[in-house]
Amino acid sequence: MARVQHLHLGDFSIYFVRDGSFWVDAGSIFGAVPKVLWSKVCPADERNRMELAINPVLIDTEGGWILVDPGIGDKYDEKTRKIYNLDRSLVLDQCLAELGIDRTEIGTVVLTHLHFDHAGACTRVEEEGEVVPSFPNARHIVQRQEWEYARNPNEKTRTAYFEDDFMPLAGHDLVELVDGETEVAVGVRTQFTGGHSGGHQVVLVVSKGQTAVICSDILPTVHHTPLAYATAFDVRPLETLEAKRNIYRHAIGEGWLVIPAHDTKVRAGYLRETEGRFTLEQEV
Ligand SMILES: [Zn+2]
Repeated sequence: MARVQHLHLGDFSIYFVRDGSFWVDAGSIFGAVPKVLWSKVCPADERNRMELAINPVLIDTEGGWILVDPGIGDKYDEKTRKIYNLDRSLVLDQCLAELGIDRTEIGTVVLTHLHFDHAGACTRVEEEGEVVPSFPNARHIVQRQEWEYARNPNEKTRTAYFEDDFMPLAGHDLVELVDGETEVAVGVRTQFTGGHSGGHQVVLVVSKGQTAVICSDILPTVHHTPLAYATAFDVRPLETLEAKRNIYRHAIGEGWLVIPAHDTKVRAGYLRETEGRFTLEQEV
């Protein structure tokens, strides 16, 4: 059975691949939202963790494959695997194999931000122990502010950034730093949001009057649909709020397909507003 779902958006095909899952303290995933509220819809395990799927998105364009946020990857020791209860039963390599795509065929990787659960799979450890780029022929598009942020983490942000995820890319001259809104390919562009991290960006896919928005951690799961819901990791939560408000306005008004980052069940859906409450109606 095919494990990779996809849909058509105008001239593009969007493939919803997976790179495993990990478990994170549910309190930190819901930030200031009280547990009595989130635990009704999203029960935590005995260690108060919840499962976050790692959901890269692959776009088939006329100009080649674009991979958004490759995933968490495999560079972890046993201790870290245990802490995050890493599930590697379905990973990016298997999804690419199912689609008949070789890693070397990926021409563009867009990184919404450089947190390890999004950028980890950009590099891998070779047999000799060297950390090398996973997509040796891809330019890796990152907001300049995010790059600076990841290179200079502070006491709050440093648990989310691992230099091995992104410095080897620079070593191989594969990084393309961008400032603000950037056209990645015809019909595919990034939009700076900040909020979740110093230089977080979302990706817009537009073709024949249809639009999809890859929200990344501006919308971690469908349970984060209320405007004020953001993770405790967000460095500037008010920016997250305004980015969501802006995306929602278009998503409702123009029928955008909305793609959350880490939901275990919903890969994409349409936003609905009923009496001021937002919900995401599952499409994939
Ligand atoms: Zn994330």
